[in-house]
Amino acid sequence: MKQRRNIRRAAIAASIGLAASFAPPALADNGTNTAPLRAAVSATNIMKHLAALQAVADANGGTRAAFTPGYEASARYIERKLRAAGYTPVRQTFPYERYDTVSASLERLSPSPKTYAYDAPDGFLDMEYSGSGDVTAPLTAVDINLAGDRASTSGCEAADFGAFSPGNIALIQRGTCSFRIKADNAAAAGATGVIIFNQGNDDPADERFALFGGTLGAPQAGIPVVSTSFATGAELAGLTGVSMHLAVNSTLTKLTSFNILADTGGRADRTVLVGAHLDSVPEGPGINDNGTGTAAILETAIRLKASGQTPVNRVRFAFWGGEEPGLVGSDFYTSQLTASQIKAHAVNLNFDMVGSPNFVRFVYDGDGSSFGTKGPNGSGLVEKVFLDYFKSQNLPTAPTQFDGRSDYSGFINNGIPAGGLFTGAEDLKTVAEAAVFGGTPNVAHDACYHQACDTIRNVNTTVLEQMADAIAHSTLTFAMTTSAINGTSKGNGSGNVDLEFKASKLLK
Ligand SMILES: [Zn+2]
Repeated sequence: MKQRRNIRRAAIAASIGLAASFAPPALADNGTNTAPLRAAVSATNIMKHLAALQAVADANGGTRAAFTPGYEASARYIERKLRAAGYTPVRQTFPYERYDTVSASLERLSPSPKTYAYDAPDGFLDMEYSGSGDVTAPLTAVDINLAGDRASTSGCEAADFGAFSPGNIALIQRGTCSFRIKADNAAAAGATGVIIFNQGNDDPADERFALFGGTLGAPQAGIPVVSTSFATGAELAGLTGVSMHLAVNSTLTKLTSFNILADTGGRADRTVLVGAHLDSVPEGPGINDNGTGTAAILETAIRLKASGQTPVNRVRFAFWGGEEPGLVGSDFYTSQLTASQIKAHAVNLNFDMVGSPNFVRFVYDGDGSSFGTKGPNGSGLVEKVFLDYFKSQNLPTAPTQFDGRSDYSGFINNGIPAGGLFTGAEDLKTVAEAAVFGGTPNVAHDACYHQACDTIRNVNTTVLEQMADAIAHSTLTFAMTTSAINGTSKGNGSGNVDLEFKASKLLK
């Protein structure tokens, strides 16, 4: 099966420069001296862990993906190192239902018959977790807007289907709400299939015009759901008496994988959750994504234990499984927390890709100052700990959006403050970024992102050392603080976030 298209908007703020000027000391920062831990956490040792993960991939078909022997072997390496350091790692098992496309077809029967090719620019894609079905029916457009700014809430409200004839196929425009909400509303109105076309609103990168791939987020009982380009949708909407044949044959396979959790001592009611995903994509060994985050938190855990310090607040190191298929392990972790356990999580620090070859030092925009989408209360404070640290090192940073592309998603969705670091993936480095961070403009931050070439040679050790020091600093700062860092509105779903992505897959 072809790889699903991963389309994202460029999430880089226009303003890049030195971190914010000094403000009064962060509440959470009690002035803990993190220099000894930072000195102990070295890129040299992190590269040894990465060499071990590379060897694991080499011995297992070139991948460390979830549900493969390469993941199991990666986990055993992490567990061995944690045990040797004095931790008692625990496996937390979780279920997953993998979606696979067996076949899919889309045809216009009238007027003027036309066959749409699978995954061609003017063709279609089935959405992940589409239902299986084979239907021939009239096509009905649902509250679409092809004029002006093409602002669209098509299919987001049940009322959009007031005039919809049950049995028809719904033609729905992307925009505002998730694909899942649109598909569920269509199914509830009696639609036998759904075609979601791209929105066609202002977008210089063409990501709101071209064919796109998306996910319904989880299995659903139902009807076939496919996506097309804006042009295809607009053409269909302009015709009268349209009859379509839509068929998707897909399978769901029940699988299990696991997270690895390892705790320090300290106050469990103020747990500092330091996480990184351990799995790679099936296409490669995943050494930058996310061997780097994995190895950096592993080395931090080892050196923290060796320092003999007992944290004031418990640190839980989490090595997430199933991030690449859709944040499966971290979502499971947060989904099974009770309300009081959610409250006992003070903060989540997430590290996903911290050694990108053509890097930018990105810090998650916890306070929403750059992108408008802020994390739960307290996330701005987490961001400030990173910004103050990099400022103290005279290292410029840039903000990156909380958009759902990594494992903080379940935490912010439950009101738990979060933050973390990222050095860039498939987006091209801008000229402005190159002026600040060096490197090569108009080349991806990581040209081997999600590819077989994401090997041990795909790591910039200079930025890895800088990021690892910031990881050690933030981990120890939150481990030792006696100040309040808790968010103020924690609870199941209290974050009420509406994120665009689930890992690299589009939700809306
Ligand atoms: Zn990743």
